[in-house]
Amino acid sequence: MPRADELRKDLEELRTRFGQVADLNQIGSLLSWDQQTFMPDAAGSQRAQQSATLVGILHEKLTDPANGQLLERLEGEAERLSPLEAAEVRLARREYDRYAKLPVQLVEALSRNEAEGQQVWAAARQENDFGRFLPVLRRSVELLREKAEHLGYEHHPYDALHDEYEPGSSTAQVREVFGQLREATMRLLDRIRNSSHAADDSLLHRYWPEDLQEQFGREVAGQFGFDFQRGRLDRAVHPFAQGIGNRDVRITTRYDRNFISTALFGIFHEAGHGMYEQGLPDELQRTMAGEAASLAVHESQSRLWENLIGRSRSFWQFAWPRFSELFSESLAGAGLEEFLRAINVVTPSLIRVEADEVTYNLHIMIRFELELALLDGSLDPADLPGAWNGLYRDYLGITPETDTLGCLQDVHWSAGLLGYFPTYSLGNIMSVQLLEAHRTANPGLEDQIRAGDFSRLLAWLRSEVHTHGSVLEPRELVRSATGSELDAGPYVRYLEDKYGELYGFAPEGDNQ
Ligand code: ZN
Repeated sequence: MPRADELRKDLEELRTRFGQVADLNQIGSLLSWDQQTFMPDAAGSQRAQQSATLVGILHEKLTDPANGQLLERLEGEAERLSPLEAAEVRLARREYDRYAKLPVQLVEALSRNEAEGQQVWAAARQENDFGRFLPVLRRSVELLREKAEHLGYEHHPYDALHDEYEPGSSTAQVREVFGQLREATMRLLDRIRNSSHAADDSLLHRYWPEDLQEQFGREVAGQFGFDFQRGRLDRAVHPFAQGIGNRDVRITTRYDRNFISTALFGIFHEAGHGMYEQGLPDELQRTMAGEAASLAVHESQSRLWENLIGRSRSFWQFAWPRFSELFSESLAGAGLEEFLRAINVVTPSLIRVEADEVTYNLHIMIRFELELALLDGSLDPADLPGAWNGLYRDYLGITPETDTLGCLQDVHWSAGLLGYFPTYSLGNIMSVQLLEAHRTANPGLEDQIRAGDFSRLLAWLRSEVHTHGSVLEPRELVRSATGSELDAGPYVRYLEDKYGELYGFAPEGDNQ
């Protein structure tokens, strides 16, 4: 057979094989969505068996040695591949290696530790009993260190784990942008603390009828551009967004009738994730490039709609008439200014998921430092509570009184997710870089937002971010969309401008 025909045949084979992998992944996503929303409680163990079988089939399909041979042949023809084909080969290699490099015993041990770990963690957290969680943590760290050794890394074992969530990102790069962000954030926090404005968000803790919360959330998600013909909004205890193909995107939220922010900003956030999934292009479906570029890029989309748009003055100038009509009783005369200040209150707090835009990243940096230390052995797991509390004192000036409010608050470490946390902050940083690049291309953005027209913004995100799937690595994507490298500078300026206005001080360097 001529070489060109062989190459076509190999590419077709790759698409068939990895198309099935994509199908199985999406079936798994559907099972997981169902488990977190509508599955009857009693079905837990049956579902666990079904999921385990699916994972087994997926593992078998992926680690088939024929995949390795196929990839080697295609890698040998690299110069004849289109950029899309090259990306498919690179992504398939990544997925294949991730499974093939790990011994089965280690994969099983990790998955057992994850299942048991989450149960033990939930109980330990409930009872404020770090000692109960310690063996799970110790075992997690050991297994993850072993995993990093198998996957391989250049400088720090953390690189191997972090790369799984954020392809192409390294510990050194994270350290650098976090360093930039930390100093600026702490300076800003000082100025906010010293400002004469009192932080008051009591308005948000009034009674907010759940059905109206849902109605308003659905209206806004639709106005942003979330397509309910190709998606759903349901309830879940721990809200999330799940793509099951670009025509079936499910987002979830949780309603608290005594705190409007949970569902309000939760829906904006998940709709941002959901619009990304809906924007993945048809022609990449069932290919290895048909998924989101990374967790950070995903988070840049959710944070952009939740915070940069959803907590902005322009957006609320548009949304206020409808909001105050629906919630006239809850608001009882409170006006737009009071509401804007309440949703943008900055106050150091202990719980990451409830943190404001300014302090949020400090919570992430604390976890990043602790993860590095756990992994390289400089922090013994038994000493985690002390190290945690010390960093909260240094960064946020507060100390948790219990481990439940401290190092036991997040599920991640019990589920073996080390290297994941930085993606939240990287996403924040990207969100501002992207919005600034868009604003340059679309100077009328603020007027459009005040008129409730988000179409040009969404179209830009579609063409600059969503449509690429994972053809571009995250950093290339940022470069191609914004013309700059990943940079915390724009995020810092955004915070200084916004909170300078809200808290009544001029941005730094403005010596008036
Ligand atoms: Zn998110």
